[in-house]
Amino acid sequence: MTARRTLAGNWKMNLGLGEAQALYRGVADGAKGYPATRILIFPPFTALASLAQARRDGDPPIGAQNCHFETSGAFTGEVSAEQAKDSGAEYVLVGHSERRRLFCENDLLTRQKLTAAWRASLTPILCIGETMVERSRRETRDILSRQIRRALEGANPRAPLLVAYEPVWAIGTGVVATTDEVAEAHGWVREELNAAGRDAAGGGTPVLYGGSVDAKNAGPLAQVPDVDGFLVGGASLKAATFLAIAGALEASEPRSSAAN
Ligand code: PGA
Repeated sequence: MTARRTLAGNWKMNLGLGEAQALYRGVADGAKGYPATRILIFPPFTALASLAQARRDGDPPIGAQNCHFETSGAFTGEVSAEQAKDSGAEYVLVGHSERRRLFCENDLLTRQKLTAAWRASLTPILCIGETMVERSRRETRDILSRQIRRALEGANPRAPLLVAYEPVWAIGTGVVATTDEVAEAHGWVREELNAAGRDAAGGGTPVLYGGSVDAKNAGPLAQVPDVDGFLVGGASLKAATFLAIAGALEASEPRSSAAN
């Protein structure tokens, strides 16, 4: 049996409410043509509750792009995992490189947010990845292993989780990692997850690739062993492009043993 692969769309700080509603409807209607792909949508917070309320049976689940680690309190401008859940989120992105780089989030905060996600019964997507400087110093493996170990320290290996490998230099740049680079990094990530008790027997942890994925490069990337799907930013803002990536995933054989 082959595992169902995941296609997650991260809309970032884009789209007004009407635009978000229209795009969600377009993706949701088109998604019915790709039943073998688990499609997830991460809208901005301003649209989350409205999309969740309009969600019909079988429409893609919705996730938050971030959450605070406390349940509630004096944290002006923040949104807790419980509030995201209450607004209709089922998933949450944690440790995205834009959060790490632009908002000074570190591995400890990432771990606290993962804990908060599980506390609120959200499924987190843990984002990890190296910078170009780290890659050129051949530190990629160490960086990925550090990010995973610190984030998952003390965590229940059976708690639901997806991981997104997103090289920082490939995000929003149009520079996509080569299939060899992705295969190598996903192999390391898989080893580290196995060491953390997150092998297929432990329920499995899908590993997505992210960073300038589009309708053209999705085909070859979808054939890389251990690529269990994609986390897509820019190319998720148009329904046709995003759904073409789902088509590329379904047209190629998954080669990972990760369960759903
Ligand atoms: P990108 O973003 O597809 O625009 O590179 C990916 C991400 O940030 O998750």
